[in-house]
Amino acid sequence: MSKIPEFVRDLLAQLGEDPEREGLRETPRRVVELYEELTQGYRLDPWEIVGEAIFDVEYDSMLVMKGIEYFSLCEHHLVPFFGHAHVGYIPDGKVIGAGKIPRIVDVFAKRLQLQERMTEQIARFLEEAINPLGLGVVVEGYHLCMAMRGVQKRDAWMVTSAMKGSFRKDARTRTEFLQFIEARLQQ
Ligand code: ZN
Repeated sequence: MSKIPEFVRDLLAQLGEDPEREGLRETPRRVVELYEELTQGYRLDPWEIVGEAIFDVEYDSMLVMKGIEYFSLCEHHLVPFFGHAHVGYIPDGKVIGAGKIPRIVDVFAKRLQLQERMTEQIARFLEEAINPLGLGVVVEGYHLCMAMRGVQKRDAWMVTSAMKGSFRKDARTRTEFLQFIEARLQQ
């Protein structure tokens, strides 16, 4: 990222600013530090995060974790989109430690993303990790690239979903999951 401070200074000048004025002098360095943090998902290995936290269980009903907060960056505009992710699955003998799920969401959120792709990546990773009978991921996102440009605010909200196994095949299972998270979606 060594060229980035230079690039940010350039950008400031292109915007008609004086990169040398006091408030902006440290901005290139701050921007680089911030973007490093906001894209740290590229440097994290989700398998390392999961580690040993996969457990054998005999529970075979639906597990739901809702309202997982995330912040990501829209790859088209490099501005944030953020909101909540909801994950549900029916285990086939294996569950993942609940505390790991928000961290998995974070690994895929802290990159340049499309909300659709992020949703799919979270679902695919969890599916591979615990091989459940079915799994669903629903993501709500508020996109600043839309909200800040004067589009109707409500249009800035986007909902995406990825359904696997019985969540895809069985409408009743899917409905059960959506009912679990519905209360949250209406807020
Ligand atoms: Zn965008």
